[in-house]
Formats: sequence, structure tokens, C-alpha cells
Amino acid sequence: MELQQLSAQCYVLRAAVNIGYITTGGKGLLIDTGVDDSSIKKAIKLLEKEKLPLDYCIITHAHADHFGGANYLKKTMRIPLYAPKVEKAIIENSVLEPIYLFNGSFPIAELRNKFLEGKSVPIDHVVENGKGNIGPFSLEIIPLPGHSYGQIAILSEGILYAADSYFGESTLKKHVIPFINDADQTIESLHKLKEIPCKGAVPGHGEFEENFHGTVQKNIELHEKMIQRVREQIEEATGKVTFSQLLKTFLACNELNVGNLGQWLLFRTSFTAYISSLVKKGIVQYTIQDNELWVTTITN
Ligand SMILES: [Zn+2]
Repeated sequence: MELQQLSAQCYVLRAAVNIGYITTGGKGLLIDTGVDDSSIKKAIKLLEKEKLPLDYCIITHAHADHFGGANYLKKTMRIPLYAPKVEKAIIENSVLEPIYLFNGSFPIAELRNKFLEGKSVPIDHVVENGKGNIGPFSLEIIPLPGHSYGQIAILSEGILYAADSYFGESTLKKHVIPFINDADQTIESLHKLKEIPCKGAVPGHGEFEENFHGTVQKNIELHEKMIQRVREQIEEATGKVTFSQLLKTFLACNELNVGNLGQWLLFRTSFTAYISSLVKKGIVQYTIQDNELWVTTITN
């Protein structure tokens, strides 16, 4: 983990999962915490070494890799935690993440790992969208849902902490199919990102870029390609295919060979979001036949 200064007051603690940091008036504010105690301890140590204060923490969304260290932060340093409303509910009941991934049924032990279930922690304050203050910090909270139900980005001093609303190019390549729970909202949020006046942005995974619109555009193109790919595969199956067969084809077509249940469930969620986008456009529908879930094209 290393500390990178982005402006007079804004920093990022660079790691596989970035942690944002802002300081003003002798106070410090963290944005996200990394996946576990170890990652937040590294962040605290780094701030201490640089004699930077720490007083507040905002969690951008309730994914374990972003809030897993928050429990330690609150317990050992009594740092007040802030989060968006829906995300707060999940952070405070973190088993909900493996629950929703596992079709709502209670997750088996294999799914209750630190990447899918962060340590639960009570959130002290709900953040409201728009311009506001936390202590001496003047921030703008920008809702960017799609990757997570209530995800936010934070704008401070012209620096945009974009969370997982977009991914850096190498992360995008590594993930192949990024995690989303709503494709249309994801794309809408990506377009919105390009409209936010700022000096630069840092994603949750990837590098700070002054000119980040090109990276955002690559994210847009990827999701549009995935939606199109699903559509083509349904058409190739003469407009009627079981959900499970379509998923199998979709993963193979993306050259994925999924190695474990957790990863498969994450991919299935994004895949479902792509189909739902086609459902909302009136192109396909979900039907049940022979006790199976089918995806069929709507012919007029
Ligand atoms: Zn995330």
C-alpha cells in the first residue's frame, strides 16, 4: 500500500482495493477500508507515519472488499462511520451479501468468506446525496448505482472518488465480466460520470487519472457488448433457451472457466442483470416451462 497525493487535501492509499483519504483543518476522512483488519491496519500505519489525522470514514458501498476493515476502525479507534441508506442495511447485516448471491437461501460455509461477507459493523450516519458537510469537510455525494444498489461517489476539491462505478483498464480485463446488479443503471451511472466536472477520478480498483473519460467509455462499451452478446446468443438458440444453458454459453463465449461457486454466483448476477436489461426493453422475457426457467424473445 502506498500513499499518493492527488491535490492539496486529497490522497489515495493505493492497493488492490483503493482507500481514499482527505484531510482538512487538522482532521482526516477515509473513503472505504479495504477487505479486512490487515488492510485497514496498513492504512492506519501509513497515515500515522505521515502524521496525517484520522477522524471519519465513509463507506461507498456494501461490498466486503470495501467495508471489511470498518469493524476494526470503529472498535479500536472509535471512528464514526457513514454510508448510503441501503448499503448501511447490508453492512450492518453483512450475511445479506452471500444471501442475495445465493438466491436468498442461507449461504453455505464456503460462501461465508471475507471476500463475500465482510465483518458486520453498525453505521453511525446515513449520507445524503448532494452537497453537504461531515465535520470540516465539504463534500458532494453523488449516487452512482448499478454495481451496487446504493453506491455513491464522493467529490472533494475537484477529486472524484468514484468507488466501483467504473474499473481501471487492467481490472476490467482481469474481471472479464465486472460485477453489476443492474446493467441499465450501471451504464447510466457511467454516462453520468463523464458529466461530473472534476480534475480527475480514482476508481475503487485502478489508477487515478486526470483524463478518465476514455476508461469510463471502455466500461460503457464492455457492458453494451455483453448485453448484445446475450441477445445474440438467445437469437442463435432460435429465440428460446433455458437460463442455465444460456449462462453456460455466455461464460464460454467470454472464455471463462469458473473455478468456484462464489465466482460463479458473481458472474450469474451480472448475467441476470444483462438479461433483465433486455426484458425491460421488451426484447426478451423470462418464462417457466417444464419446471425450468427459460429466456425467450418476444415476437410481435
Ligand atoms: Zn464493489
